[in-house]
Amino acid sequence: MCGIVGYIGNREVYPILIKGLRRLEYRGYDSAGVALLNKKGDLNVYKRKGKVSELEAFASASDTTGNMGIGHTRWATHGEPNDVNSHPHYSQTKDLVIIHNGIIENYSAIKEGLKKRGHTFLSQTDTEVLIHLIEDIKQHENMKLGHAVLAALNQVIGAYSIVVMDKNDPNTLVAAKKGSPMVIGIGTDEFFIASDASPIVEFTKNVVYLEDEQVAIIRRGEELKIRNLKDKEITPYVQKLTIELEAIEKGGYDHFMLKEIYEQPRSVKDSMRGRLNAEKGEVKLGGIVEHEAKFKNAKRIVFIACGTSWHAGLVGEYLFEEFARIPVEVEYASEFRYRNPVIYPDDIIIAISQSGETADTLAAIELAKSKGATIVGVCNVVGSSIARATHAGSYTHAGPEIGVASTKAFTAQVTVLTLMALHVARLRGTMAESRFIFRKRIYFPCCIRGGFKIKRDFLHTR
Ligand code: GLU
Repeated sequence: MCGIVGYIGNREVYPILIKGLRRLEYRGYDSAGVALLNKKGDLNVYKRKGKVSELEAFASASDTTGNMGIGHTRWATHGEPNDVNSHPHYSQTKDLVIIHNGIIENYSAIKEGLKKRGHTFLSQTDTEVLIHLIEDIKQHENMKLGHAVLAALNQVIGAYSIVVMDKNDPNTLVAAKKGSPMVIGIGTDEFFIASDASPIVEFTKNVVYLEDEQVAIIRRGEELKIRNLKDKEITPYVQKLTIELEAIEKGGYDHFMLKEIYEQPRSVKDSMRGRLNAEKGEVKLGGIVEHEAKFKNAKRIVFIACGTSWHAGLVGEYLFEEFARIPVEVEYASEFRYRNPVIYPDDIIIAISQSGETADTLAAIELAKSKGATIVGVCNVVGSSIARATHAGSYTHAGPEIGVASTKAFTAQVTVLTLMALHVARLRGTMAESRFIFRKRIYFPCCIRGGFKIKRDFLHTR
């Protein structure tokens, strides 16, 4: 998944966009671009295949002024990585521009329809089709930008987070999301938009996470307005960001991955904090307490996850079968969602995701939910889509993981799954009490938290 940044306010926008794109570089990308509206009303688009530094070099001699703009790092899905396919993309008249993360699955049918109406396309992307559709609706239905975006998204199948701006409206940005994440930071007379909180955190702690199928109308000097795709107004839920800037910076290490490897003693400790009373041999996870009866009677647990989280699920299978004696299946969410899996109402589905935004895992959750199963999440990002979509769950508390190859997020997932399996084993009486005794005593004073006075020991589980 690639990166999105946007800004509207009184500051110079270009440095904010470039800095934001740099903060999002960790996601991987093949090209980068920005669109800036200057004070004269010119809409300048600069985009380049390659790194953000190449984009900077390309734009260095050009006009980069303005205090409203959008920026993007692309990871191509439709059309090869090149300058033309890079985002932002213009509409037919070049009055509108868009940046987009995700895939418009029915872009081809929409494109054919638009071609018949005289539209011509410069790129091979699905994204360009969407901005042409928005403009077509805006012109023919005589709609404002926000409503045109809303109407266009009602015709779209797929996943997206988008930001759109209009050369003729220097006071409005429109953002929307389905499947891909989108955060809006609220400052004083200014708004920041991004695909995760890292470009926003140094400017403001007040953020709104857009939900799926919501459209945000972000107007200079006005309150944030959100509508859903049925055109119903939604009251924005403003949350406080809990991460600090230093937590997403490299802290003296050459690479984020190295930093994160060294952070593991702390992150594993944080995953157990307040959940383990080693003296009493007690393990309690808030997410399970409310669903103890379900776990007690469960005939089966199904893990759904992708990538590294799926590997944590494989470890989880051993843990739950060994300790809690419940049969476990581990499924790739992207397979699960597209087949017709047998799911019973007494199944427990454990969905694992570091970001809490994995699109396939989210879709698999909705499928399992529709069959009546109980869904428990294990994710790292507080307030993420998976945390909200599940019936209950446990955060891993690993802190932000920037490295693409997962380290501390994985070990934190395995830690939480271990605690979960032990909690359930105790409930079901499948492990002898003697197995909850301690083999070795190590004292960690920093673990005295959460009502438990914990002398950190290792559970003797075998
Ligand atoms: N589907 C779009 C493209 O290929 C967006 C890809 C992305 O998420 O970066 O341009």
